[in-house]
Amino acid sequence: MAMRLVVPHQDRPLQPPAPDRVRRFKRHLIECLRELRKARRPDRLIQALVVPVAADVVPVLVAGCTACRGFCCLGGGEHAYIDERTLARIHRDQPALTGRGMIAAYVQQIAPRSFADSCLFHGETGCTLRADMRARLCHSFFCSPLKEFLRGAVPADEVTVVPGPAGWDGGRVPKVTSPR
Ligand code: SF4
Ligand code: SF4
Repeated sequence: MAMRLVVPHQDRPLQPPAPDRVRRFKRHLIECLRELRKARRPDRLIQALVVPVAADVVPVLVAGCTACRGFCCLGGGEHAYIDERTLARIHRDQPALTGRGMIAAYVQQIAPRSFADSCLFHGETGCTLRADMRARLCHSFFCSPLKEFLRGAVPADEVTVVPGPAGWDGGRVPKVTSPR
């Protein structure tokens, strides 16, 4: 059975990062580092990074997120969902990186132009942050339409991805429908 998969969509304008937003992001990282230092067992904060999905569904997920242009990243603001658990993982993987170095590495990757009021890494062609520095949520979130697709038994090559109206978050209608 062929399937038409309607995904969320956003079409905000692009803008350079405002200095006060970058400052807020740095403050957020400093707060996360503080929380990390307080942890007695930082290793226990680390979560598995990837929620595995079958290889054959990946092209549909990529097509969906590309057509959508990252609606779910709009909530990333000046935190990008990064917390002390994210930084604990980076510290485990790069023990020589100081707190100051970590902040610099993040700031260097801020998109030169990102969608208005979205995550600072939400650039025109996708996320500008290295995958290994992203929050776990950025690797594991699926919006309702993608979850519905993953629950279904439709072969990936029978799915046609269509962006919904700009500003639609994927809830209620429009949703996954069969072709007319
Ligand atoms: S997970 Fe859903 S909302 Fe997020 S970018 Fe992909 S299609 Fe868009
Ligand atoms: S870090 Fe990247 S994937 Fe995560 S919210 Fe920001 S733009 Fe989206």
